[in-house]
Amino acid sequence: MIIQPKTRGFICTTAHPEGCAQQVQRQIDYVSAQPAITGPKNVLVIGASTGYGLASRIVSSFAAGANTIGVYFDKAAEGARTASAGWYNSAAFEDAAAAAGRKSYSIVGDAFSDEIKAKTIDLIRTELGQIDLVVYSVASPRRTHPKTGETFSSVIKPLGGTYTNKTVNFHSGEVSQATIEPATEDELRQTIAVMGGEDWQMWIDELSAAGALAEDATTVAYSYIGPEITHAVYREGTIGAAKNDLEATAKRLNEQLGAAGGRAFVSVNKALVTQSSSAIPVVPLYISALYKVMKEKGIHEGCIEQMYRLFSERLYGSSETAVDEKGLIRVDDWEMRPEIQAEVADVWAKLSTENVYELSDLEGYRREFFQLFGFETDGIDYEADVNPEINIHNLR
Ligand code: NAD
Repeated sequence: MIIQPKTRGFICTTAHPEGCAQQVQRQIDYVSAQPAITGPKNVLVIGASTGYGLASRIVSSFAAGANTIGVYFDKAAEGARTASAGWYNSAAFEDAAAAAGRKSYSIVGDAFSDEIKAKTIDLIRTELGQIDLVVYSVASPRRTHPKTGETFSSVIKPLGGTYTNKTVNFHSGEVSQATIEPATEDELRQTIAVMGGEDWQMWIDELSAAGALAEDATTVAYSYIGPEITHAVYREGTIGAAKNDLEATAKRLNEQLGAAGGRAFVSVNKALVTQSSSAIPVVPLYISALYKVMKEKGIHEGCIEQMYRLFSERLYGSSETAVDEKGLIRVDDWEMRPEIQAEVADVWAKLSTENVYELSDLEGYRREFFQLFGFETDGIDYEADVNPEINIHNLR
């Protein structure tokens, strides 16, 4: 099959196996060239196939030498349809982990369900004994509650008032105004149910009850704060409310695990191009402006650089994990430096369709978006026939 990108808005419905494999290898090469981390030995990553979860799994395996289990929701190729990018990423990861002598297993299915939690616990018991790091990196538009059966949908909306700001169509470069109406109470409740901390808490409770969690285990989930310009739609909107819930869950879990020497954290990460962030209005234009400023200053990072810094300097650094006044790990510290934010705000005020490629790194954003699906990757022949049916060798 000749595989080309097919996009619908911020979704790409095809993925390229060789391009995805190369993107994964690039991350492995980065981590392998860094000093090794003395850290976790058996790691469970929930939401492990793309973005921050995939990078966490790569750091665990290739910098800390850990065995890993990845849980994710991806689809295999079928007929004329390619597999999803996360499927190809995971297949490439598992091949590389096996070649490096690490154990790695994949569980594909709905992490919110009781069934997938039980299946994961069985696998831990038979193959790894206990887990000493649980990374929770699920980003999903929907969740079906395992006890009540209610299906919740998350929305990205402001609370209390209408929000208007600049946004960009990153395919065409057209800058326009996006206006988003405030969420209803029920939309807020549903967004917290999807992206808040309840499912993370359920995972930790069930792993603990089954004896599948080491006594001094660490767990971490990811959050975002970001700049003034996105506050109304992000941090002070529905997603921000869900992140507040996630952060409150971390506090609870820290107390719960703390008695036996365990730890729970939320790490606030940098804004990056991922499948999830491309769906948020305004954010892709902000990321384009941010990338331009951070690249010019030589402090740009991608998911893998962020996760390596999180593991090596914070979670498993030589001193106690540094947190801010709210107890959050901040690897968004470089993004949030006042001089970076001041420059981004300056660029933001001037951005228009006429100057967007000059003032921001929209071209870099667009290219990274396609790279998420294995396209626009150097060294790949996109005219060549490729087999879309790739096996994940340790799929359980
Ligand atoms: P992503 O879309 O790249 O990855 C999401 C992962 O969740 C994928 O592996 C997907 O398979 C998995 N997933 C989704 N639904 C699932 C389900 N029902 N069962 C099992 N797996 C499921 O997202 P990302 O941007 O890496 O986000 C991960 C976390 O990082 C989120 O909490 C997000 O808010 C946070 N974060 C993202 C950014 C950013 O700019 N991208 C910044 C800071 C924090």
